[in-house]
Amino acid sequence: MKRCPVCQRTYEDDTLTYCLEDGSLLSSDSFGSNDLAATLIIPDPRMTAPVKPETSRPSPPPPQVYSAPHPAWPPALAQPHPMPSVAPVRPGKGAAVTSLICAIASFLLLGFCIIGGATGVEESLLGGIFIFSAVLALVGAVLGIVAVSRSSKDVSAQNAKTLAVVALVLNGMYLLIAIVFLTLGAAAG
Ligand SMILES: [Zn+2]
Repeated sequence: MKRCPVCQRTYEDDTLTYCLEDGSLLSSDSFGSNDLAATLIIPDPRMTAPVKPETSRPSPPPPQVYSAPHPAWPPALAQPHPMPSVAPVRPGKGAAVTSLICAIASFLLLGFCIIGGATGVEESLLGGIFIFSAVLALVGAVLGIVAVSRSSKDVSAQNAKTLAVVALVLNGMYLLIAIVFLTLGAAAG
């Protein structure tokens, strides 16, 4: 009978020189009662090992419990979304966005007219498109004024005033360009 001085483990095999657990040099031990006490210690470390799988087995259910609330999460997240989306319906924002679209469309049509004029597209068609773009900018400017006046009453940080002002300025710029073009065209006959 041999005993490990470090972990107090006993080994029936006297041919062993070193502890199988920690590699300590084993000492001879002939006390049978101590052997029984020591052999009782052996199950203890091994019991802790089976306990771990037992504790890890109940742990898979918690993920299932957690996964159940997960479906509740998207609705919980989706709920705040409608809330801000309702709140962001800012006064004048719709008019501001429409005004901005009018301005962008006007500039795109002007670009088409310039390219069309350079590539020899029929002048009457270009004239019609140009007048249409000017009307679009006029509508956009009116919408921009509406948007600015509406959004000015909105004191929140997310108000549409900046967007409305940008849209109004762009439409105003386009109208100025259109007036200059039309005046030059009229002067040129
Ligand atoms: Zn040992």
